[in-house]
Amino acid sequence: MTPEARAAEFDAADPLANYRERFMLPDGVIYLDGNSLGALPKATPAAVQRVVEQEWGEGLIRSWNDAGWFEAAGRVGAKIAPLIGAAPHEVIACDSTSVNLFKLIAAALQMLPGRKVVLSEPGNFPTDLYMIAGLEAQGLATRRLAERDRLAQALDADVALLMLTHVHYKTGAMHDMAALTRAAHEAGALVLWDLSHSTGAVPVDLNGIGADFAVGCGYKYLCGGPGAPAFAFVAERHQAELQQPLTGWFGHAAPFAFTDDYAGAPGIDRLQCGTPPVLGLAALEVGVELIAEIGVERLYGKSQALSEFFLESLMAHGVALELVSPPRSAERGNQLSFRHAEAYAICQALIARGVIGDFRAPDVLRLGFAPAYLSFADMAAAARHLAEVLSSGEWQRAEFRERAAVT
Ligand SMILES: *Cc1c(COP(=O)(O)O)cnc(C)c1O
Repeated sequence: MTPEARAAEFDAADPLANYRERFMLPDGVIYLDGNSLGALPKATPAAVQRVVEQEWGEGLIRSWNDAGWFEAAGRVGAKIAPLIGAAPHEVIACDSTSVNLFKLIAAALQMLPGRKVVLSEPGNFPTDLYMIAGLEAQGLATRRLAERDRLAQALDADVALLMLTHVHYKTGAMHDMAALTRAAHEAGALVLWDLSHSTGAVPVDLNGIGADFAVGCGYKYLCGGPGAPAFAFVAERHQAELQQPLTGWFGHAAPFAFTDDYAGAPGIDRLQCGTPPVLGLAALEVGVELIAEIGVERLYGKSQALSEFFLESLMAHGVALELVSPPRSAERGNQLSFRHAEAYAICQALIARGVIGDFRAPDVLRLGFAPAYLSFADMAAAARHLAEVLSSGEWQRAEFRERAAVT
């Protein structure tokens, strides 16, 4: 049976197949980059338009109260919570992932005054490593990096915080969150998980594993749109004592008392800094609701099936690319990354055929399988395109090899 024929059978049996209709996807595009910027839910434009025209245009400043703008950050956070095994009052949607990392790294360092080391791994997402550097420059942190198989040994009495990304952005390799959280706690350290490539894609149980802190991204699998607010999680047991350094007025216990002295709000609201991005929250809320409706367990199951079927389809075409991702689907998130010296040109040639994946320097072709809107037919077609790009050598065309400034 051809991959296309098998795909038709899988699609016919796929309980999530109809959710594709809930997203806007251009004709002729197979979108394998939903792990970088999630697709647009069809309900989003109307929701944003309502906030702009009615709540802003008509309601004006009254909408802070009347339209629930004040509560939006907490309300959207509470809707993200069940996707990551958190309680509603433990999550808030605010700022960018980078800023939330800064706040929580600093807060963790303050909770363990005798310790300064923030332990992470080389090759973690750049912003995660860069945010430690800023605190290092302030004299507050010391960065320590250890390869994944050495992390447990690197956890000594100097480590205040273990900070890792659950699903690696480049390879898709997944950490054992439970085991690493336990190891960090046994060493007296706190743990901060970056869930940017997990939330809405891979089941996560923050409270089940006793996590301390987490952050994640709103514009990837949560489909919140470009620059969507990120989120932050603080376990309830830390909320009373948590002090974060960006003590803006929106994190104040009484922002509209306009007092001179800062007093952090009780609970997760303390994580806020300035005025929340209401339009961005409106778009994010639609994406979060849709992903929650489909359910992370079902999404994860389908994405594993998609990536397995994609690999099978490649094999059916005789394509042998070096897989950088863990070959066992249980050990990776929703993506497959392949190493090839000409990965950039191959990626460009695929995009010219409507197969949108991405390139990660220096030599990785990264294909993401956002399961909410991809079909098995997409997998068969994408595998065929990739096989043809490689066998025809069309990637060698100058237009594909020339690098754009932003990739
Ligand atoms: C996408 C991503 C981010 C994004 O950070 P922003 O500040 O929202 O741009 C951070 N960390 C990881 C691991 C990511 O994958």
